[in-house]
Amino acid sequence: MSTDRTLVVGAGLGGLATALSIASRGRRVTVLERRQAVVEPDAGTQLAPNAFHALDSIGVGRDVRERALLPEALCLRDAATGDPLARMPLTGTYRDRFGAPYAVVDRAGLHAVLMALCRASESIELVTGCAVAWYEQDARTVTVVSEAGQRFTGTALVAADGIRSTVRRRLVGDGAPKTSGDMVYHAVVPLTDAATALLPGEPGLDGPTAWLAPGRHFVHFVHRTADGRPVLNLGVTHEQGVSEPVVGLPPDTSHVLGLFPDLADSARRLLRLGTGWRTWALCDRDPVERWTDHRVALLGTAAHPMLPYAVQGVSQTLEDAAVVGRLLDCEAAEVPSRLSRYAAARRARAHRAQQVSRELGRRLFHPSGGPARTRDAMLTSLTTEELHDKVAWLHGFRDFAEGDES
Ligand SMILES: Cc1cc2nc3c(=O)[nH]c(=O)nc-3n(C[C@H](O)[C@H](O)[C@H](O)COP(=O)(O)OP(=O)(O)OC[C@H]3O[C@@H](n4cnc5c(N)ncnc54)[C@H](O)[C@@H]3O)c2cc1C
Repeated sequence: MSTDRTLVVGAGLGGLATALSIASRGRRVTVLERRQAVVEPDAGTQLAPNAFHALDSIGVGRDVRERALLPEALCLRDAATGDPLARMPLTGTYRDRFGAPYAVVDRAGLHAVLMALCRASESIELVTGCAVAWYEQDARTVTVVSEAGQRFTGTALVAADGIRSTVRRRLVGDGAPKTSGDMVYHAVVPLTDAATALLPGEPGLDGPTAWLAPGRHFVHFVHRTADGRPVLNLGVTHEQGVSEPVVGLPPDTSHVLGLFPDLADSARRLLRLGTGWRTWALCDRDPVERWTDHRVALLGTAAHPMLPYAVQGVSQTLEDAAVVGRLLDCEAAEVPSRLSRYAAARRARAHRAQQVSRELGRRLFHPSGGPARTRDAMLTSLTTEELHDKVAWLHGFRDFAEGDES
């Protein structure tokens, strides 16, 4: 078999977007995925305009827009009093300024769109049930070896294998991810008329809303499932010093309600709607300089895991995919220098997003006492334009030619 192809490890959102990005330039890709069937969790995710610019650059923006809900605003409220602290409009001047919508999509649906496009592409081969264990390279090629001993050779290897990346272990060797101590409790319930009536905001389904309290917050938003049903996403994040990366514990609603002894009535009624709660402990890693090893590069969560407070995990991953696809449109001999340029183009921005995500948890979402009062005074004083200024560096990014020499 010809080795003139890129190997991508992982068929999550990052791996599939990367495969499409590379294949859109007529280049061949083989995606190697550990799981037999890749199913994203039943959860909504928020895509800022920078994600849509990345998706457009990859050539799949229209397909994703078709499934998206476009909220009116992002809202922050005091959890105890219910008082509004900030409302950032996402239409009008926001959309004009950043050149694309802010949207809510379901992860499973987004993954299904990317997977269908990958399957329809003659340039993309998908190998499931293939857990990559190792890579080795020579001057002209890179070879991955699976746990079962299968070997795949190409001219480049992009590792999108997530927070416990096997490729990162070899390339960076920085051990296990760090638990932040924060636990997320998550539920998705049908959006009944009764639930709709409980949603605050002007008008009705205003948009993602976070209720802030010391050491915790409650967030909710509406999204559509893969079959088009509107559902309500409920998430509670609680600083409880969890030290193990636990995923999937099924707490009951009374436990979740107990995390918020002081919660405004309207928010409490929404929280009560939650059933089938699941937990996950948040993890990230410190930023690292080393993203590449000759013909091998890290991408997405494998390169820059981040806490969810800036809501940029998926968006930053899509940006990586747009840039690496553009740069890998090259001769085999150029791959190492192109991957270095990819890392140089992406590193500072992704590291800033990692660090800002950590800071937002401490300083925006969860402070108490004096720092909380300072936050409230700051938030309530901001004009719409000032709110947009604060997110401009993140949401307004669209320069995927960064890293190009021309
Ligand atoms: C419930 C949930 C919790 C999250 N928690 C966090 C968090 O705490 N911190 C954080 O930074 N982000 C977190 N995220 C965000 C998320 O992981 C990313 O933002 C986003 O999905 C982009 O990920 P990716 O494609 O880079 O990696 P992932 O979505 O993790 O996809 C990695 C893919 O690689 C495959 N894979 C892994 N190892 C191998 C191997 N050896 N061989 C072959 N395939 C392999 C996996 O099966 C998976 O399909 C969470 C997301 C969800 C849904």
